[in-house]
Amino acid sequence: MKSLQDTDSKILDLIKLEADRQEYGIELIASENYTSKAVMEATGSVLTNKYSEGYVGKRYYGGNEVIDQVEQLAIDRCKELFGCEHVNIQPLSGSPANAAVYLAVLNPGDKVLGLKLDHGGHLSHGHPVNFSGILYNFVQYEVEQDTGRIDMDKVREIALREKPKMILAGFSAYSRNLDWKRFKEIADEVGAITMADISHVAGLIAGKAIDSPVPYFDIVTTTTHKTLRGPRGAIIMCKNAYAKAIDKGLFPGMQGGPHDHVNAGKAVAFYEALQPEFKQYAKKVIQNAKAMAAELMKRGYKIISDGTDNHLMVVDMTSKGVSGKEAEVALEKVGISTSRSTIPFDTRKPMDPSGLRLGTAAITTRGFDEADSVTVADIIDRTIAARADDSALASIKNEIIELCKKHPLYK
Ligand SMILES: *Cc1c(COP(=O)(O)O)cnc(C)c1O
Repeated sequence: MKSLQDTDSKILDLIKLEADRQEYGIELIASENYTSKAVMEATGSVLTNKYSEGYVGKRYYGGNEVIDQVEQLAIDRCKELFGCEHVNIQPLSGSPANAAVYLAVLNPGDKVLGLKLDHGGHLSHGHPVNFSGILYNFVQYEVEQDTGRIDMDKVREIALREKPKMILAGFSAYSRNLDWKRFKEIADEVGAITMADISHVAGLIAGKAIDSPVPYFDIVTTTTHKTLRGPRGAIIMCKNAYAKAIDKGLFPGMQGGPHDHVNAGKAVAFYEALQPEFKQYAKKVIQNAKAMAAELMKRGYKIISDGTDNHLMVVDMTSKGVSGKEAEVALEKVGISTSRSTIPFDTRKPMDPSGLRLGTAAITTRGFDEADSVTVADIIDRTIAARADDSALASIKNEIIELCKKHPLYK
């Protein structure tokens, strides 16, 4: 068997280039993180060769004696980590996990209440261009224009009026904690199923830095690759009453064979998240985000909801006379990765919106502290100010390389 070095130098070179980009750049994309080498070893293992449609002890293929143990280990660790009654660890990613849930508990056309995309929701929470919005009747709640926060009394009003079959709580770009208990109370009042999508904050929940919906909600989905710091993938947790329907919804409903190599990576990530250091990590992620947000606000940047309770923030860049896209492009030039974002009630178009979303999960993994986070805010501010000055940008880029060398990643 030949290695990449012997067969495909083009891909090998590109992997090296990407490794350098990650090593010497500042990663502020709120949905990204750096996994451990251990997670990558599991994900890059011979487990990629196996077919194992079905579940532990009930497979449609032979030879799954070892795979069964891998999957069971992932399940046991996940249950310990989140305290869930049941978990399906096979979802390939966040969107298919949500699709499997909808397939399991809804009929096409059923009504679901979810957070509007440009108010911080996710495509798979009922956006008209996504399967969720095409197949199901999503009605949406929003954040308040003056506070940037979800008003739970309004959520209740909409729930009472619309009587949804399911209420979905979760976000991709919202920097405040959700009131899980209140969501559950409202759902109970209208007889709705509760679903939480904790894709962004799962690591903060696993690290006990913020509250968990798992004790209250019927179904909780999450990606495993964001703050949770595992391989790309997802899981579905639920109460035992939903276990059969969820498992059937995922397979054979939604997916074929699971990705056993990735599931082994998930097992490793759950193990890592169960260690005491991970609690420290989760706490530091939030401290760094708060420090960065405070410094940006001090410098006149408007942050939606005026701060953050988690790892992310949405900055209204028009407060500095640039669009989200212009800011993203300028920051990219110096080696800072961010993602443009709509802001609530945005008057600009989605491809060139007003906002920029920033997150601290990745920089915290490589050891940035609060002082470094303030430095990053300073660098962002100087980059935006110098965006038309190529020589100033080149010198900022060198500064960033030095900062990254202070906190080595994989090298
Ligand atoms: C990231 C995310 C997803 C989708 O995950 P993919 O793995 O990209 O499909 C789903 N829901 C929420 C809230 C997310 O933030």
